[in-house]
Amino acid sequence: MKIDILGVAIDNVVTEEAVSLGVALMDKPGFHYVVTPNPEFILAAKKDAQFSSVLGGADLSLPDGIGVIYASKILGRPLKGRATGVDFAQGLMASMALSGKKLFLLGAKPGVAEQAAQNLRASHPGLIICGTNDGYFNEDGPVVEKIKTSGADVVFVCLGAPKQELWMKKNGAATGASLAVGLGGCLDVFAGNVQRAPVAMQKAGLEWLYRLYKEPQRIGRMAKLPMILVDAAMARLGGK
Ligand code: UDP
Repeated sequence: MKIDILGVAIDNVVTEEAVSLGVALMDKPGFHYVVTPNPEFILAAKKDAQFSSVLGGADLSLPDGIGVIYASKILGRPLKGRATGVDFAQGLMASMALSGKKLFLLGAKPGVAEQAAQNLRASHPGLIICGTNDGYFNEDGPVVEKIKTSGADVVFVCLGAPKQELWMKKNGAATGASLAVGLGGCLDVFAGNVQRAPVAMQKAGLEWLYRLYKEPQRIGRMAKLPMILVDAAMARLGGK
């Protein structure tokens, strides 16, 4: 079931359920895409009708940020919990390692996707990574062709939002893959360039604080995030 959080529909799923739904999408005929909205997405979608429409058209929309969970509580239609993009990707890769489905990694600075591929092959024995490409290209055509030629079933698209969502919508079907997942900075995590917060902090919903501590330059970007809680309170008071 999807829950409307300030105009963005989000699936009320925890990680295990999200992974099962993702695996089912891999096997379903046609092209499908997954988005991972956090508070930044919701604020951006408010001002960008195209981004909002692409988020609305996703086959699966995961509650990625703790701010989304808080907003859902304030709105009076609470989501069960988070399903982060990184955890979803890990679950999907575990399943792909068993089924033999092929994964393509797209995004991040040159060299990062290759490093991520090397680490993921080691951590998921049996996982087939059929190709990589960095996220700083000018033309979509050659990249789409490269993915198509690789025979990928799944593409992790890590170009940052809203670029990755618009890219999946525009080019996803032409890649020949059955599933694309927009995963932001995940390749930097898989490559070992960015560390995730300790598990205790993740469980306490403080991953954002750890990220701010590690990347203080994000303060400007993060400062506006509490706005979605204000928006949620206003919406609740307004009876929406
Ligand atoms: N990126 C990219 N192409 C671009 C812009 C960004 O590949 O044109 C990559 C960037 O190198 C980083 C990721 O997209 O690996 C975005 O990371 P960010 O931390 O902004 O995403 P978040 O994890 O916050 O969603």
